[in-house]
Amino acid sequence: MTLDAKKPSKQQKHQERQQRLKEKVDQRISNAIDEKGLLIVITGNGKGKSTSGFGTVARAVGHGLNASVVQFIKGTWDCGERNLLEQHNVDFYVMATGFTWETQNKEQDTAAAKTAWQDAKALLNDASVDVVLLDELTYMVTYGYIDLEEVIAALNNRPQKQHVIITGRACHRQLIELADTVSEVQSLKHAFDNGIKAQVGIDW
Ligand code: ATP
Ligand code: MG
Repeated sequence: MTLDAKKPSKQQKHQERQQRLKEKVDQRISNAIDEKGLLIVITGNGKGKSTSGFGTVARAVGHGLNASVVQFIKGTWDCGERNLLEQHNVDFYVMATGFTWETQNKEQDTAAAKTAWQDAKALLNDASVDVVLLDELTYMVTYGYIDLEEVIAALNNRPQKQHVIITGRACHRQLIELADTVSEVQSLKHAFDNGIKAQVGIDW
């Protein structure tokens, strides 16, 4: 027998590595036994925060869960996700007037934010809603339009099994601490920087 014959082949090594990995993952899966409503934060400067939130809503609805969306920034464009998800009984609460990127009227923006927050609070108090997406909530807290302590209290007191997703840049540290899962989307490039305008179906 040659020396080479005793050496494990690449394939064997790969298999052994995969087996060890599988054992570790299986162990972690069997350790993860808690079941509860999750608070998920998707923040950062890169593209993909709201689409991630809506993707999760679509996933939940696909399993027959009941989801609602509050949009804290009124876009100037209509919203593809809304057009689709409303057909699947997802209720949308969109900030009716006030804050867009263009407005500068603090009083009006605060009033609009507070009204949308009342809708959000009602959802966070309703056990029949399995998933709540609070899209672009982070700005309302950063700008002081909605009281951080009130947001934290509503999140802490929500129905035990209710999942909540918060999106938006510059999420407040205390919301990040409170969350179970936090992802920061980093921008490596964006088409807009090369003068390409926002595209229907991709950007809204
Ligand atoms: P999306 O809704 O596409 O997931 P987002 O929620 O991560 O984006 P927002 O900060 O809410 O991003 O901005 C919304 C709009 O701004 C979208 O049209 C998006 O394509 C665009 N956008 C997002 N990130 C960037 C960026 N880094 N540079 C320029 N435009 C961006
Ligand atoms: Mg967004």
